[in-house]
Amino acid sequence: MMIIMKTTATPEEVKHVHERVKALELTPHQISGAERNVIGVVGDGRPVEATAFIRLPGVASVIPISKPYKLASREFYPENTLVPVGENVIGNGKPIIIGGPCAVESREQILESAQSVKDAGAHALRGGAFKPRTSPYSFQGMGEEGLKLLAEARDLTGLPIVTEVTAPELVPLVADYAEVLQIGARNMQNYALLKAVGQTQRTILLKRGMSATISDFLMAAEYILSKGNQNVILCERGIRTFETATRNTTDINAIPVLQAHTHLPVMLDPSHSTGHWEYVSALARSGIAAGADGIIVEVHPDPTQALSDGAQSLKPKRFKTLVKQVNAIAEALKVENISTNPLQ
Ligand code: PEP
Ligand code: MN
Repeated sequence: MMIIMKTTATPEEVKHVHERVKALELTPHQISGAERNVIGVVGDGRPVEATAFIRLPGVASVIPISKPYKLASREFYPENTLVPVGENVIGNGKPIIIGGPCAVESREQILESAQSVKDAGAHALRGGAFKPRTSPYSFQGMGEEGLKLLAEARDLTGLPIVTEVTAPELVPLVADYAEVLQIGARNMQNYALLKAVGQTQRTILLKRGMSATISDFLMAAEYILSKGNQNVILCERGIRTFETATRNTTDINAIPVLQAHTHLPVMLDPSHSTGHWEYVSALARSGIAAGADGIIVEVHPDPTQALSDGAQSLKPKRFKTLVKQVNAIAEALKVENISTNPLQ
């Protein structure tokens, strides 16, 4: 539920409400907006009556949150949340573009990739050091050695690093090297991992599970938020359908639907969504046109030699063209000042 304080409420009255919330073994989340002071209350599933708070001094009203996800819902926080990606933020209408190979494969490969995505205008470098592969016989990533190479690529280009973390015990190590921790589709419901990244203040790029509903996806984000980390980006990466012409089916619907239900920024990954480089640019453009806050695209200097996901990786030249198109589409969307909040 949300406790809306009167505009005249004093800091002591706000503090008193916090204390009452904690006394009931509930967690208060302070949301201080420009116009109103709101305290979000999240419990453990037990019913909580509005009467517990409505008569406290300074309280204007108490509103229940109807959705099963609380902290992630727009009811809880109506504005767009801005999440840091290195020096930039995502969620303010300027698309954030992340590019780089599926996996870090060698020093030469990652440094060349980093330089090319930087030159194309990307805001961050992606590259997996720990790879969750469907087959145990596929390349599993370079591990910490890969993280060191990513750090070298950051030194070279200044680009922040986006890389996947696959297990709770790896979170401190990966958080030491990367600005953005990616949770892969296969781990979207790895609750121990979600809780572990929720205990950091790193930005988390949470990918949608391949069979996850929008509600499952938002509940996964809720795990991270409930541990105290508000820096969550949602990433649509295609879902499993009956269609076999593409690796997955890009759920473009998910972009405005998510933005209606949550204040968190929403990205599109057109690479895993389609699985074929020929379709990647078209889907990236449609994602931005649908209002996505950014895209994450696989780019490889020589896709035919890639150890993972070469078939869906763009060559640097094509990526450069895509970045120009994405920026032009974002510019076109400004005509009537369209907000990425579809409810506004
Ligand atoms: C990836 O980003 O390389 C990846 C493994 O993505 P997903 O988890 O979406 O399959
Ligand atoms: Mn990949």
